[in-house]
Amino acid sequence: MPWKDALAEEHRERRERALWRTRQQLNSPQSVEVIRGSNRFLNFCSNDYLGLANHPRLKEAAVTASKTWGAGSGASHLVCGHQASHHRLEEELADFVGAQSALLFSTGYMANLAIPQSFLSRNDLLVQDKLNHASLIDSASLCRATFKRYRHNDINHLQKSLNTEKYRRTLISVDAVFSMDGDQAPITQLSDIAEENQAVLLIDDAHGFGVLGEQGRGSYSANRLIPNGPRLMLGTLGKALGSFGAFVAGDRVYIDHLKQFARTYTYTTALPPAVAEASRTALSILQDEPWRQEQLHQNIEYFRKCVADIGLELMSSQTPIQPLVLGDEKNALAASQILENMGIWVSAIRPPTVPADTARLRITLTAEHKREHIDQLLEGLQQIGGDHGQ
Ligand SMILES: *Cc1c(COP(=O)(O)O)cnc(C)c1O
Repeated sequence: MPWKDALAEEHRERRERALWRTRQQLNSPQSVEVIRGSNRFLNFCSNDYLGLANHPRLKEAAVTASKTWGAGSGASHLVCGHQASHHRLEEELADFVGAQSALLFSTGYMANLAIPQSFLSRNDLLVQDKLNHASLIDSASLCRATFKRYRHNDINHLQKSLNTEKYRRTLISVDAVFSMDGDQAPITQLSDIAEENQAVLLIDDAHGFGVLGEQGRGSYSANRLIPNGPRLMLGTLGKALGSFGAFVAGDRVYIDHLKQFARTYTYTTALPPAVAEASRTALSILQDEPWRQEQLHQNIEYFRKCVADIGLELMSSQTPIQPLVLGDEKNALAASQILENMGIWVSAIRPPTVPADTARLRITLTAEHKREHIDQLLEGLQQIGGDHGQ
């Protein structure tokens, strides 16, 4: 079959299964209230958990940095693109999370790809939770290590996967906050297991950094740990920090190793300096405006209590990610449509992003949501609950 016909066939099938994805054009900054196309929407699907993406101080930092440092970095870090802004940001991130060192990557996806590829080879083992983010899963295919996945948050199953006699090195990598369920990995237990097995634990804290732990230091901090010894941490700067990019933090020897061997670090252009400066400002806002985390956690508590009151069941998440699982793709799309008709934007998440029959509304809360916003969402959910005969 000619390419074009074969592709059209695949597309037809994807549409029929209610899996076709579309983009919605945003005609406003990212915020709690956005203009989508030409309509105003109340937004419950961004990862801008602290409301920093459109914060005046971040914007000012980016503008000032562009004027001072230019628009682009002009090269990769190892050639001549490693500007003062990048360097300072790395030092401040390491300091903030209590690590010896940190390395800036252009995206979290790229940082995740770098880690097994840099540390593991043929005689090694990579173990991951089954519900890990796609970027962690994909990282397995850039290295030659044996790859095993354990059942979600099942420590016994993880332990059975480990066999330190057989492999030279073992890396356990896990989402600290699972991106589609909002639940958390048992970090303390995982850290103990890593230590006992002379393995390294990598936590992907894309959804915990800025949100959990003291002043938003992340999931290690929430468990009274720091990224040292066998613990590595990946944080992203495009979610709670409202900017863009990512970093890996840990003991110096690991970070030095990444600088030498990470292909997604070596063979790519350094971030624009304005982006690094916006991230530095976000980092100081975490410390200057503690009300943001407090408000976010109050919003989570309020929302969960009210949802229980209307008799709907959420997953057991204490984080800003509050999914309502509806099962069928078509149900999830219909529910999203009901909310859309009320001017509320919650995206339906479908397979393969989530397992079959667990299509859901992925509701995310931010520090900028007001009571009345959450109450509007609850009205919509009540209607969906009614439609499902609950
Ligand atoms: C968003 C996300 C990433 C990717 O980070 P980007 O900086 O957006 O590339 C990695 N891991 C998890 C768990 C994520 O949710």
